[in-house]
Amino acid sequence: MPTNILQKYLQKMIRLRIDRAHGVAPNKPVLLLAIVELIEQGQISENKVTPSPDLFEIFMKYWSIITDRRPNLALPFFHLKSDGFWHLHANAGYETALKVTTQIKTVSRLREIVASASFDDELFLLLTNNHDREVIRQTLIDTHFADFKVGIESLITEGQQIDAYRQALLRQVKHTFLSLQPLAPAEGENPIRIAGFRQTIMRIYDYTCAVCQLYVLTLDGESVTEAAHIIPFKVSGNNDVRNGISLCQLHHWSFDRGLISVDRNYKVIVSYLMLERGPAEWLLTTLRGKSILLPEHDELYPAQEALAWHREEVFRE
Ligand SMILES: [Zn+2]
Repeated sequence: MPTNILQKYLQKMIRLRIDRAHGVAPNKPVLLLAIVELIEQGQISENKVTPSPDLFEIFMKYWSIITDRRPNLALPFFHLKSDGFWHLHANAGYETALKVTTQIKTVSRLREIVASASFDDELFLLLTNNHDREVIRQTLIDTHFADFKVGIESLITEGQQIDAYRQALLRQVKHTFLSLQPLAPAEGENPIRIAGFRQTIMRIYDYTCAVCQLYVLTLDGESVTEAAHIIPFKVSGNNDVRNGISLCQLHHWSFDRGLISVDRNYKVIVSYLMLERGPAEWLLTTLRGKSILLPEHDELYPAQEALAWHREEVFRE
């Protein structure tokens, strides 16, 4: 890519139109930092950016070290179009609405109208090149976050370590599943590994509870679902994604206490050894025999060995 094209876009990054009417609101550069990270991880591999949970989560990670104001991804996602290199694409039936809309204030409205956004093709090409992407990222940081440089750079390094661990976990499924992988005690609480396991499971299950299919995401990027270990980590030391499952807080709690488990056909089994009452749709008993949500690729399915261990050791029969 000729240097003058890189220079042209660096100038655009330096001159991002930032609304300073209500104090500095670095929405746009934070959004761009988050997208750069997803491109680096290979999560965005074509010139198409959607307001996804992954984008929310990374946007929020940077946002929270810069300001304690409430984040709103809808603002930069929409208004970045005024900088000339970011193009919005409407959902079917909303083409006219998008043309006449001058502002979008909420993420639900954004998702209703906007399907995705894309960069100028030549800018996207720069962003897929490791060297040029790094120059662009550094320019964004130097220009817009001079006061937060150290914090942002350590988040970037941490993000790279988490991603490397996530890639390693995904490669591991090519190998035979080993239920128990005892670790040295020092390795138990490694925050990079905890975050990497969580992120991998959340992406595999799209932030959805495998048991009840609940999906709730706050605008701060927090999810009601958690990455649960089928054989608890303290027993197994096993972060293999096949020892993981995405569960909402209620079903994680119930699973860890042996009130529910999963049979060899991936159907929910429910203990008879408990009392419950409440609205029928919330009762554990109503889940009995229902199929769980499974990953798209069967190599990522929960391991039969892990489920058998859970039925044997935890489930209250
Ligand atoms: Zn659930």
